[in-house]
Amino acid sequence: QAKEQGRNTYRFYTPKLTAAANERLALEARLHRALANDEFVLHYQPQFETDSGALIGCEALVRWHSPEEGMISPARFIPLTEETGLIVPLGEWVLRSACTQGRRWMDAGHPEVTIAVNLSGRQFQQHDLARRVAAILDETGLPADRLKLELTESMIMGHGEQVVELLHALKTLGSRLSIDDFGTGYSSLAYLKRFPIDELKIDQGFVRDIPQDENDMEIAATIIAMARNLNLKVIAEGVETRAQLDFLTRQGCHACQGYLFGRPMPADEFARTFFR
Ligand code: C2E
Ligand code: MG
Ligand code: MG
Ligand code: MG
Repeated sequence: QAKEQGRNTYRFYTPKLTAAANERLALEARLHRALANDEFVLHYQPQFETDSGALIGCEALVRWHSPEEGMISPARFIPLTEETGLIVPLGEWVLRSACTQGRRWMDAGHPEVTIAVNLSGRQFQQHDLARRVAAILDETGLPADRLKLELTESMIMGHGEQVVELLHALKTLGSRLSIDDFGTGYSSLAYLKRFPIDELKIDQGFVRDIPQDENDMEIAATIIAMARNLNLKVIAEGVETRAQLDFLTRQGCHACQGYLFGRPMPADEFARTFFR
């Protein structure tokens, strides 16, 4: 292409591409160092049962505490770690840290908390994922049923028997499986029935504009009804207002997570705030 456009264009584009590529390489190197230097931290966001108002668990969300830039959100580095494969060791670090924290909270007298951990597609492609998860549970002493793994629709859709086997292997450990960002992918009822899933997590995009957007309300209500018909738990994410909570409760949504209840926060703050 550069050739077709002539030598001048070629000379014009090269430094720009190089700059972008260099920036990526630099970030990649910094992320590798960050993992080695223990610069990642987990924040925990509470999940509550809508009926009883009881704390049922939390979601572990990774942040990068960069010495130069301070706290960096996962949106800024997870995509690159997924491209480069660094998400695999980072994801294991997240799983190990979250399970360690869960065990610590159990030992402090809070056995009721389930820890939800996000898995990336890359981790899910490892055929020995179930064995790795089992090893981490074993190492940290967290009972398997206190761990909930969050997957996305795209990770499991259209990947055939291998995925079904992997999901069954994870279920056999005793852990729970949740479909994150539900409603944004291309799922069908047929596959929901085929997979040993425990929970659907309604994407925050359908929660945000409740009660103004009738379509979103219809979609949220449909997901809740479908989950209940399939005997699945259903949780809504991104719940920010009382009106959203009221609507979701009326529709029979089992659990909620969002700023209305608490932002993701460091483990010690989580314990101070929610364990009394
Ligand atoms: P997610 O798993 O869907 O997590 C929910 C995101 O929504 C989190 O953003 C959370 O802070 C945010 N959130 C929670 N409640 C509210 C609310 O009431 N309003 C609004 N506007 N937002 C809310 P965060 O922590 O920035 O994480 C973004 C995404 O990064 C996550 O989306 C997840 O896909 C990914 N991620 C985070 N941690 C990990 C990890 O350890 N491994 C992997 N593979 N991905 C992760
Ligand atoms: Mg999630
Ligand atoms: Mg989500
Ligand atoms: Mg998401």
